[in-house]
Amino acid sequence: MPATITILEDRPRPASLDGAAKRLLIDGEWVDAASGKTFETIDPTTEEVLASAAAGDAEDIDRAVAAARRAFEQPSWRGMSPHDRTRLLLACAEQVEEKAEEMALLDALDNGTPHVQMQVMMERAAEVFRYYAGWPTKIFGATSPSAGTMFNYTVREPVGVCGGIIPWNNPVLMATWKIAGALACGNTVVLKPAEQTPLSAGVLGQALMDAGVPAGAVNIVTGFGETAGAALAAHRDVDKIAFTGSTETGRRILEASTGNLKRVTLELGGKSPNVIFPDADLDAAAEAAARGFCRLSGQVCAAATRVFVHESIADEFVEALAAQAAGYTPGDPFDPASKIGPLVSAEQFDRVTSYLDAGHGEGAEAKTGGGAFEGRGFFVAPTVFDAVSNEMKIAREEIFGPVGSVIRFGDEQEAVRLANDTSYGLAAAVWTRDLATAHRVSKALQAGTVWVNTVGPQDPILPFGGYKQSGLGREHGAEAVEMYTETKTVMVQL
Ligand code: NAP
Ligand code: MG
Repeated sequence: MPATITILEDRPRPASLDGAAKRLLIDGEWVDAASGKTFETIDPTTEEVLASAAAGDAEDIDRAVAAARRAFEQPSWRGMSPHDRTRLLLACAEQVEEKAEEMALLDALDNGTPHVQMQVMMERAAEVFRYYAGWPTKIFGATSPSAGTMFNYTVREPVGVCGGIIPWNNPVLMATWKIAGALACGNTVVLKPAEQTPLSAGVLGQALMDAGVPAGAVNIVTGFGETAGAALAAHRDVDKIAFTGSTETGRRILEASTGNLKRVTLELGGKSPNVIFPDADLDAAAEAAARGFCRLSGQVCAAATRVFVHESIADEFVEALAAQAAGYTPGDPFDPASKIGPLVSAEQFDRVTSYLDAGHGEGAEAKTGGGAFEGRGFFVAPTVFDAVSNEMKIAREEIFGPVGSVIRFGDEQEAVRLANDTSYGLAAAVWTRDLATAHRVSKALQAGTVWVNTVGPQDPILPFGGYKQSGLGREHGAEAVEMYTETKTVMVQL
């Protein structure tokens, strides 16, 4: 393992970096924070300051929520024809594509994910808008059976002003998750990006305005969770909060919602199991299992970090897994050879390395990696821990780094029991060629998504969210439309 990472000296400087300090989008205008304050965001590869962003707080949230309320009540927004709303969302997708490279550069700099992977995320971000563009013409209520003297039916109406609070691991994609569904259902939005990655949201906001999203329908307030985020979560005139982030913060958001009983959806952490049976295609399983916790340096809520391997194949599988994980070469996000970049911040670096220490301390055996790199950048080595028990700290807590733990099992029942023995339930995977085993185990796993003979794919067509402490409600699919609408029952006496 080389001691340091080679940092490229020639770093791109996207044009929008220079206007970043004035980046609150409120009522269709780019404005400073009311306080005039800004904060610095760091390039995690170089550890140098990348830019300053506006530090919005409660006062800016008030302005943004008021703008979102006015926009929500505009007859032109509420009464927009479903066909026009579809066209608007399709135009958003096109504008996201138009500005994709600018956003991919900003996010690769600001969050450290390899540039080529951020480019793929921008394609997915555009796809999210295209998916939701199909919905406005398909949101129906129902007529109900009733006595001849009554005519009863339901209609689905937008919830109102929706707050979106997002993390730093996939900034633009997470923003589209909070915006596209809300707009498709006729809501308006106030978005609070993560303090570690405040830059790309501004470009996204401009893309949406260029697409024709009316002033106030999407507002963006960069700033800190404790100020801007908390103010949004507690705001009495916000009708719904959609949050992605840690379980701990999710709990705070739920508590803050009680003032006006706003609707809350939460996408939280995970400790997702990946169960490998001996009859599986073991080459494919090892490749996917490594991807499951190495991709994006493991900074993925659904990362499959607990790899359960049948004892009869465990030694051989661990070798293959370690070799695959070692192939996730850390490096500068702009070096085409890099498979993963640094972690997002010094805080996350300290957190992840403290888990590596805990793993060594508890007697787990690092088959590859197990440490961090010296020198500039928040780089840690992709790590496979063997000889892990499900009770160890590294098997119980979300690490959010490229760290996988191998836990051996004897039979299917034991595998399922251990896989479910966690406070989380976001995702799970099972590898087998036996159809009955695949379906039986899928049924038994307590997780919002179960992958069979694959790890990690997501599609906005399908609902995504967590069992247990991994979340509340679902994003995407028809479930998302339910989450962004209220049902009104109308009873007519004839
Ligand atoms: P976090 O605190 O949950 O941050 C997520 C978002 O919530 C950010 O925009 C944050 O603002 C905001 N926030 C923080 N406190 C808030 C509050 N009291 N009220 C309203 N909003 C608030 O996560 P983190 O501190 O960045 O990361 C810590 C750990 O969370 C990670 O190590 C990882 O385990 C987990 N995590 C999970 C996911 C996921 O996708 N499930 C994503 C990120 C992190 P600031 O940016 O200013 O803090
Ligand atoms: Mg934070």
